[in-house]
Amino acid sequence: MRPEAVAAMLPWLTEHHANPSGAHRPAREARRALDDAREIMAEVLGARPGEIVFTSGGTEADNLAVLGTADRHGGVLVCGATEHHAVLDPVVGRGGRVVGVGPDGVVDLDGLAAALDPDVTLVSVMLANNEVGTIQPLAAVADVVRTAAPAARLHTDAVQAVSWLDVAALAAPADLVSVSAHKFGGPKGVGVLVVRDGVDLAPRQIGGGQERERRGGTPNVAGIVAMAAAAEACVADRSTTVARVAALRDRLVDGLLAAIPGLLETGLEIGVDEPGATRRRGRVAGIGHLCIPGVESEALLFLLEQQEVYASAASSCASGAMEPSHVLAAMGVDRRLAFGSLRLSLGWSSTAADVDLALAVLPPAIDRLRQFAAPTPA
Ligand code: PLP
Repeated sequence: MRPEAVAAMLPWLTEHHANPSGAHRPAREARRALDDAREIMAEVLGARPGEIVFTSGGTEADNLAVLGTADRHGGVLVCGATEHHAVLDPVVGRGGRVVGVGPDGVVDLDGLAAALDPDVTLVSVMLANNEVGTIQPLAAVADVVRTAAPAARLHTDAVQAVSWLDVAALAAPADLVSVSAHKFGGPKGVGVLVVRDGVDLAPRQIGGGQERERRGGTPNVAGIVAMAAAAEACVADRSTTVARVAALRDRLVDGLLAAIPGLLETGLEIGVDEPGATRRRGRVAGIGHLCIPGVESEALLFLLEQQEVYASAASSCASGAMEPSHVLAAMGVDRRLAFGSLRLSLGWSSTAADVDLALAVLPPAIDRLRQFAAPTPA
């Protein structure tokens, strides 16, 4: 967590315990803290304070956007094939349509147009992908939606975007926007769904009428206050952090590509002449994604962990399960190659020493696994 978030959170864990729905002075103080956090999140996300609905994180925000729309309006739900399961599963579960992506992970706009008709009530396309970091052209998506399904609401999962992108500007065409605090230096278990004025959803949690009847339940005051502090700190240094972390990520990925024979950078044409930073323009700064022929990522993660490099094979929610990532499958990555995928994530606190360690540890670990690997069948 960012230190600003920890500092903001602590008094709400140690000194203040009132429920913001109460009537007494401590309750009013808690309510004021919530109002302040609501204003900050609104500013960061390009929304009005009344459009902010506090949730328990990205999953709840995504579920509320998708299922809340389905329950209120019926109709057909549509999403991109590389969405997080918090969007994909509810869309598929309600019989919705899934639109393909290109080899770079960008949603196929013609395919999207073909999937839309006046029965569509929600289109969900994420701002940035959590596995490979692809940034989606949301303005172009919005144009397609407004033309082919004018009554549909546009939802964007911006969970992976806040640290790296100007969400207020880029998510402006969306009616519903999800974010999650732990992706930008806040605590786990708290997030926001932006619900633009006039966008009507069925609540999924019903009870005390909190969040203007859109999400019942006593709000997580400490978490929300910390989320706002993290968001403020993140936006204040975003441009310098993005430049610094992108340079670290490029040094890491370019260094690995140079050191490890056959290594592939997922979704990018390998071997083009442009420098890496330019080739990675359509990706968020904090993700490097590689496929390693002849290596199973589960074994590699184990070796890396022993040397204190903590990486991921697919999305962290799925790692541990031996199913290759649906994101890589949608991008057309060969199934066998997808079993050797590696996601290296960096954040605001990543350092040059972290990159040095990964550069020192990864090539011999991969070499070792390749020596023991059975020859791959043709
Ligand atoms: N959406 C995306 C793109 C994510 O990366 C994640 C978490 O990794 C989620 C949604 C779920 O968010 P949370 O973990 O806060 O429930």
